[in-house]
Amino acid sequence: MKHSLKDLNSFGVESYSSNLYYINSIEDFSNLDSHIREKETIILGGGTNILLKSKIIEKPIFKIQIQGIEIYNETENEVYVSVGAGVNWDQFVWWCLDNNFGGIENLVSIPGNVGSAPIQNIGAYGREVKDVVVSCEGVFIKNLQKKTFTNSDCNFTYRSSIFKNKLKNLFAITKVNFVLTKNNHLIFSDYGSVKSALNNSNIINPSINDIANVIKEIRESKLPDYKVIGNAGSFFKNPIINKERFEKLKFDYKDIPYFNINKKEVKIPAAWLIETCGFKKIKYKNVSVHNNQSLVIVNLGKATGIDIYKFSQKIKESVVKKFDILLEEEVNII
Ligand SMILES: Cc1cc2nc3c(=O)[nH]c(=O)nc-3n(C[C@H](O)[C@H](O)[C@H](O)COP(=O)(O)OP(=O)(O)OC[C@H]3O[C@@H](n4cnc5c(N)ncnc54)[C@H](O)[C@@H]3O)c2cc1C
Repeated sequence: MKHSLKDLNSFGVESYSSNLYYINSIEDFSNLDSHIREKETIILGGGTNILLKSKIIEKPIFKIQIQGIEIYNETENEVYVSVGAGVNWDQFVWWCLDNNFGGIENLVSIPGNVGSAPIQNIGAYGREVKDVVVSCEGVFIKNLQKKTFTNSDCNFTYRSSIFKNKLKNLFAITKVNFVLTKNNHLIFSDYGSVKSALNNSNIINPSINDIANVIKEIRESKLPDYKVIGNAGSFFKNPIINKERFEKLKFDYKDIPYFNINKKEVKIPAAWLIETCGFKKIKYKNVSVHNNQSLVIVNLGKATGIDIYKFSQKIKESVVKKFDILLEEEVNII
């Protein structure tokens, strides 16, 4: 049977699969015929960080739906929580807030599932999920071997991990274990827009709920809702370049924004590079960048996966030509 994948990807592009399998427990993998597991496969969560370039996806797709939130350990100040990979990330954030558990409030309103959060080490407003992950449990799809990756085994870096590289589509995360604070929460409110929103509301000592509410509001005002305008969040990573190259660029572009990463490297906002190449005014078929955030590519209507892909490549080509910087996709192209 042919399944439409339109509702399973946040770009809302039409694509079909005859090999879609819903995974509701780790055992579901062992119930599959080995010839299905042994092929090249695709692991799918909420579909908010993928671009389905092909109209027909031949590889078997495993849609992870494993549920459950469980406290498995507690100390005076900390709580350890084990969460099924198919739990919606934002629902988990609000569950934590309802229980006064701190650590992921800055990551509120990020779409997708808990099991996908470690894949690209989701991050926003000065925090990354690596700060609270204890371990990731799961299974190698081909041989059904179970394994637990500790935080350091996960090789977390900026928007990446071992699961996005060496183990991509080979190891399915079925559970993520987190450590959160029960009291004396660490509050991260230094990020520019968060700080000013708190100031504007006269909040001097913000609680974790204040942080979440402020960030939720900022995100709603800035980012398009994918249920209304198809998108997958930031399409590209912010490039990191060395300081010498940066100084040369700064000579030609005096207003180039940047963040110092360390003594040798600088991160440049990809949105600025894209805007400087004129993409705010460019539309290709039914695709453009979003008005409020040029790093987000949007489906204006009936764009196909290939239209979006071609537009993204035009951006890459322009940025290389103008700045000699090669943008790297954050979105997973399938
Ligand atoms: C409007 C919008 C805003 C966003 N904002 C942010 C943001 O602020 N910060 C940020 O970091 N991201 C952001 N994103 C990107 C996205 O929400 C995250 O990357 C999210 O973690 C993707 O989750 P998902 O379940 O939808 O993953 P999917 O899109 O389904 O999958 C993403 C990748 O993870 C793999 N994968 C999924 N589940 C598993 C699993 N259980 N085991 C192994 N591999 C798996 C897939 O194979 C794929 O390669 C945004 C996206 C949108 C649409």
